Amino acid sequence: MSLPSRTIFRFAPSPNGLLHLGHAYSALYTQHWARALGGAFVLRIEDIDIARCRLEFVEAVFVDLQWLGLEWSAPVRRQSEHFSDYLAAADALRSKGLLYPCFCSRAEIRAASDGRVDPDGAPIYPGTCRHLSGRERLEKLESGVPVQWRLDMGQVLDGKKEFVIREAMPDPSCAAVERPAEPGRWGDVVIVRKDTPTSYHLSVVVDDAIQGITHVTRGTDLYASTDIHVVLQNLMDLPSPVYTHHRLIVGADAEKLSKSKGSESLAGLRALGITPEDITAQFSF
Ligand code: GLU
Repeated sequence: MSLPSRTIFRFAPSPNGLLHLGHAYSALYTQHWARALGGAFVLRIEDIDIARCRLEFVEAVFVDLQWLGLEWSAPVRRQSEHFSDYLAAADALRSKGLLYPCFCSRAEIRAASDGRVDPDGAPIYPGTCRHLSGRERLEKLESGVPVQWRLDMGQVLDGKKEFVIREAMPDPSCAAVERPAEPGRWGDVVIVRKDTPTSYHLSVVVDDAIQGITHVTRGTDLYASTDIHVVLQNLMDLPSPVYTHHRLIVGADAEKLSKSKGSESLAGLRALGITPEDITAQFSF
């Protein structure tokens, strides 16, 4: 594969808690390969989840990354400042007839589920609202019931049979291999949530394009999400970066670290006297 003239890598944390060792590994891994390939390293704050993201966690991201010795190019993109970009992208998909409104609650989806689950373990959407008539949709939209917008995956897959992911171990050759995406295993994913006017999938794809990201390096927990990302890039005529999914840092219980489980934060390790050198010494890329 020939390299684009400028390679751009990104680290994109969600400020809904303090960063932990898993984030340190991901950020250092990404910067390592950006440097090795002579590329840029940019930062994005993924704070679309207005209810869970907090300013103190955004500030902590900067403190922790600086403490680790990371250097990123300006500007930092903060998703909460760019909702209009995601609204425009959703409108474009809607105008192509690829999204439909869904009014189901989680409990209704669980009740109608045939037992199949997506790669995140959530029930595959049973399609209830896909079958609403135009009139029923309008009535519900006008009634003010909370609405989310789903991708009509069946229609997408009918139109084009194969979506390809370019995947690489970033090494000096940066050779990429192609593998087919499996978006069908996700069903009709939510593209615009009820509680925020976008979704992780939509924002990440729009932002990777706007920031000119050529290489996405992130943990294997997002491996299957790449199926959806290449589909959205294709539907929106956006370039598709090369993807690398690195290993996850696990705790003593062999489970991946997570903010929700209260894994030790970088700030906590710092307070215990751990140094950035102690942290980097644990990792090899
Ligand atoms: N914001 C996501 C997270 O913190 C990462 C998104 C991505 O790298 O695509 O898990």
